[in-house]
Amino acid sequence: MDYSIRVWPDKILKEKMQEVDFFNTEKLKDYVDIMFDKMYQLEGVGLAANQIGIPYQIIVIDTSQTKNEEYQEEESVKLALVNPKIVLKEGERQSTEGCLSFPGVQITIPRAERVVVEAKDISGESITLDATGFLSVVLQHEIDHINGIPFINYLSPTKKRLVLEKYFKKQKTAQKK
Ligand SMILES: [Zn+2]
Repeated sequence: MDYSIRVWPDKILKEKMQEVDFFNTEKLKDYVDIMFDKMYQLEGVGLAANQIGIPYQIIVIDTSQTKNEEYQEEESVKLALVNPKIVLKEGERQSTEGCLSFPGVQITIPRAERVVVEAKDISGESITLDATGFLSVVLQHEIDHINGIPFINYLSPTKKRLVLEKYFKKQKTAQKK
């Protein structure tokens, strides 16, 4: 299987992924291991399964990987979440984000300040997370991915068009090299 990073406008980034029903299996453990490896290799703070072509609701996060000084004081968290769902959103903040599936794009978008997330671990045990700060933002970004929602969707239509024009121009130049 090809686990290379999928970049926009790859179709798998626009689709809602399937729920996992194979807990406690080598298959699930392998997917999570591959996702962590790939995330560290690409120096990301989070990765959603569909970003490397795995069609399930799985995300991995390691907030210690952040280069954003605003967040470096926060306690770091390393997590693999299966079938995660946001059950509560509260407050609003502006968040400056990049995405491994949009090389070179960095945008500032509105996010909830706090989220409560329900998920399973790889054994199928329930996990509830109550997050603010950087973890909250990363959870929102990655959970959006497995629901087929790219972060550019939070821009106004005009801004989104400009960002995408610039992005596609750059992608084209990169391909010619
Ligand atoms: Zn992303």
